[in-house]
Amino acid sequence: MIPDAFDYAEAHSIVEAVELLGHYRDDAKILAGGHSLIPLLRFRLAAPTVLIDISKVDELEYMHEADGALHIGAMTRESALDTSSLILERYPILHDTAMSIADPTVRNWATIGGNLAHADPANDHPATMLALNASIVITGPAGQRVIPVTEFFTDIAFETALQPDELLTEIRIPMPGERAGSAYVKLKRKIGDYAIIGVAACVELDTNGVVTQAGIALTNAAPYSIKARDAEQFLVGKSLDDATLHQVADLAAADAHPLSDGRGPAEYKQAMVRTLCVRALRLALARANGRDL
Ligand code: FAD
Repeated sequence: MIPDAFDYAEAHSIVEAVELLGHYRDDAKILAGGHSLIPLLRFRLAAPTVLIDISKVDELEYMHEADGALHIGAMTRESALDTSSLILERYPILHDTAMSIADPTVRNWATIGGNLAHADPANDHPATMLALNASIVITGPAGQRVIPVTEFFTDIAFETALQPDELLTEIRIPMPGERAGSAYVKLKRKIGDYAIIGVAACVELDTNGVVTQAGIALTNAAPYSIKARDAEQFLVGKSLDDATLHQVADLAAADAHPLSDGRGPAEYKQAMVRTLCVRALRLALARANGRDL
């Protein structure tokens, strides 16, 4: 289908983008990589009267470590995450996540900010950010506010804490400790597809191999991305032996309430949460111990 008519405005700075949002408010939509928004326009599931293109806002495209966190600009493309040695060596879960998205053509356009702002429970970055306890930097007319990612997402699909005049500008991820490991594992029907189920897992260990911090979150396991809090809490203070892994996976599966659809019945998806949780934790543990599987 051809999209409804819309006006087009190009922002060249964060200030300009926020001014345009303030002017057009609910009539406008930010256009980043366009790989979620353009399909919505073409199906006429969204009909904004103005698109505010932020693809030329260079100050939104970066990633660096500073002040105990990895800072990623919202316009950073998935392909930049795929190819960054900083990401591969220090944040392998982000590399797993980006590499699991679609195909190289989509990843050359799609942005990490767009993936989060779109808040599709089938998108892969939300679970990863929930497991990593990331923070989201939002810029509006009154300046910046920084919120935990748990407050950015609501329990409604495609809804976030962003106000109509606010732009997601940065993602902040706490730097990993000495013995930390993380992984994202995704089950899909075929290469390039959205997840049947995805599991993000992060662990930090003390010198005896006991878990001091844990993060577990799920993709497509409910109508919104889920942080598996009971599973996370259970892990802390334990060693990751086989019995513990399976108990944690049971707890994560209990938090899931997937819908039956073309990707499979709910019971199958719940069972896959269990299986993928064990795999993601095993990989995170191996990485914490300096190995990869
Ligand atoms: P856009 O499409 O430009 O924007 C998406 C939404 O977010 C819009 O509402 C827009 O207004 C808003 N927005 C964007 N940036 C900001 C910002 N900085 N501040 C405020 N609001 C903003 N994703 C996955 O996670 N996993 C997959 O397996 C996957 N497979 C795909 C397969 C195909 C064939 C395609 C086309 C897409 C796929 N995607 C997948 C989605 C892709 O990753 C999207 O591009 C991404 O979700 C949105 O990023 P974008 O930069 O394209 O955002």
